[in-house]
Amino acid sequence: MPRSEFVKKCLEVTKQAEAGFRDLWTRLGFSCDWDEMYTTIDPWVRRISQRSFLDLHRRGRVYRREMPTLWCPECVTAVAQAETEDRDLPSTFHDIEFPLPGGGVIPIATTRPELLPACVAVFRNPSDGRWMHLEGRTARVPLFDREVRIIADGRVASDKGSGLVMCCTFGDTTDIAWQEEYGLDLRIVLEKSGRMGPLAGFLEGMTAAEARAEVVSRLGASGLLRGGRPITHAVNVHERCGTPLEYLVYPQWFIRILDMKADLLERGAQVRWHPPMFKVRFDHWVENLKWDWCISRQRYYGVPFPLWYCAACGEPILAGEDSLPVDPLESPPPTPCGACGSSESVPESDVMDTWATSSLTPQINARWGERDERQGFLPMGLRPQAHDIIRTWAFYTIVKAHLHGGDIPWRDMMISGHALNPSREKMSKSRGNVAGDPLAALERYSADELRYWACSSRLGTDVVFSEEVLGLGRRLVTKLWNAVRFAAAHLEDYDPSTPAEPRPFDRWIVARAAAVARAATAGMDEYEYSVCMREAETFFWSALCDNYLEIAKARLYSGPGPRRAAAQSALYSALYTVLRLFAPVLVHITEELYQEVFRRFEGHESIHLAPWPSPQEPDADALSAGDAALVVVEAARRYKSEKGLSMASTISAIRVSGPAALLGAVRPFGEDLAGVARAGRIEWTESGDGEGIRAEVSE
Ligand SMILES: [Zn+2]
Ligand SMILES: [Zn+2]
Repeated sequence: MPRSEFVKKCLEVTKQAEAGFRDLWTRLGFSCDWDEMYTTIDPWVRRISQRSFLDLHRRGRVYRREMPTLWCPECVTAVAQAETEDRDLPSTFHDIEFPLPGGGVIPIATTRPELLPACVAVFRNPSDGRWMHLEGRTARVPLFDREVRIIADGRVASDKGSGLVMCCTFGDTTDIAWQEEYGLDLRIVLEKSGRMGPLAGFLEGMTAAEARAEVVSRLGASGLLRGGRPITHAVNVHERCGTPLEYLVYPQWFIRILDMKADLLERGAQVRWHPPMFKVRFDHWVENLKWDWCISRQRYYGVPFPLWYCAACGEPILAGEDSLPVDPLESPPPTPCGACGSSESVPESDVMDTWATSSLTPQINARWGERDERQGFLPMGLRPQAHDIIRTWAFYTIVKAHLHGGDIPWRDMMISGHALNPSREKMSKSRGNVAGDPLAALERYSADELRYWACSSRLGTDVVFSEEVLGLGRRLVTKLWNAVRFAAAHLEDYDPSTPAEPRPFDRWIVARAAAVARAATAGMDEYEYSVCMREAETFFWSALCDNYLEIAKARLYSGPGPRRAAAQSALYSALYTVLRLFAPVLVHITEELYQEVFRRFEGHESIHLAPWPSPQEPDADALSAGDAALVVVEAARRYKSEKGLSMASTISAIRVSGPAALLGAVRPFGEDLAGVARAGRIEWTESGDGEGIRAEVSE
């Protein structure tokens, strides 16, 4: 099947998946501009991706080199580091004897005896006293009878095995580093098919597992095997299929980045990181970069490189900008070879790493280089993403923005955590441990309840799937519904133009609402939605429902007039404020209640289009006086609950004492206090300075 056909099929599947996502996201209340959808395989996105490659080529930023690359023998493809994971797998540590020329043997422990034909050196730690005498000597590779150097290097772990290790092409990343640093031979024994090649001698044609068994059996027969110990160790596998990965050497395209670490650190510093601790992770990644960015993948599906190679001299022939997107497998090059003039060419069959395109999200959104390019669009405002792809998505996007535009890609980064299952494991479909499969959970919990749970942890921290937290969400949604329904009954005749006589508790709840709006807004300014929720929730449950509603009830039930109007006005304002603070998380219930109660006063089409509560300076006097007055309410409640009395039962008097100034501030609350406490009277007594308000029920 030609790649263009395959891409067409993929686009069809993508369309279906898109519909599924759209349905789910809509049900979950995501606010998306569905006109801005794109896929990385759309023709115009492929064009921008190839344009990026051509631009980097013009700037001398890309080069091609033979390099070891991670390879999945099962899927027969190169894979990116980001697609691998470590799994604990059982294996055997084989103790193998390497003969020394001139007599004697040295023991080497390995889990990969099938790599003996790929062995190019033996390494020891220079500080390991046991092997000092091997300085400058060589060893013979058993069964294959080749002589290799014994080299001292501090990276050898003296406490593992015998303290001697073999270096092969390639067992792991240390082997790759050693090969490069010590100029060791390349002995590639594993082929792309995952089978042993001609350099493996008698193992040729076998899989790695077959070759391992054969080598162990032959070593045993020749008396070169001292023994084996079963172990369980972490093996780097392909996440998708679980196959242990190999390294192959293959020509790859790279973007040169190692020479611009300082620039990248500077770009990272120009971005505002939320929470700031994740900038450290970015900095460490940049500081410890050891490789340029390998962008080629030996795969069928992906964005092709826009180039061919001259069949005569091997020079790359680049596609013209006007032919993008181009698939060199299906189109001829625009010109003969610029170096030798030959018109014979070979298409590049590799495709680009998916990050090579995903790193262009700002440029894609800006339609970079397209006819409808959006001017002044970059840098964008915000990149929301999780913490596990800082070194890929965030890093590569910063690289591309720096190289193409000499700028940062966005001004703010908002880094979230992961959803964990109750055993605190990252939930992933391939592992089948999805306790919180969103669609299944939507059958049992409302979208608002799920959103409440998802926003329950601080930005950047993981959130554990918890029925308990979902239950708290349900409780809040129910309480919100009941509170607004109760208020609605008393707001039916609410007319903001009615003259009102606000009482101190009215001023207090309005000041409390202003204070909570400030704190919640400060949280939101740092993208801390959980802070906003916590502030709003505390205010709602405690100040508004437990206290103000109880205090204002008497006036709300009374006949029309300025006293009732004042309670209506304060209640309306406090509820409308907290509803808007809840709105980003509890999207559905707040919208429903807004439409029912607030829209006719506010006029905005939706609560999600209403202005955010303005974070005004709260009236500090009203706030502190009201907080002090609540001591009286609490004393009455405590008294009644200790005596097992109903909250509606009456008491004869409450004695309130405090320093003169504070007492003077609380006295105006007297009527409302007596009302809510059902107290016959309140007795005011001055006490010494330095104390707060005290209240005591007297029989
Ligand atoms: Zn695989
Ligand atoms: Zn040529």
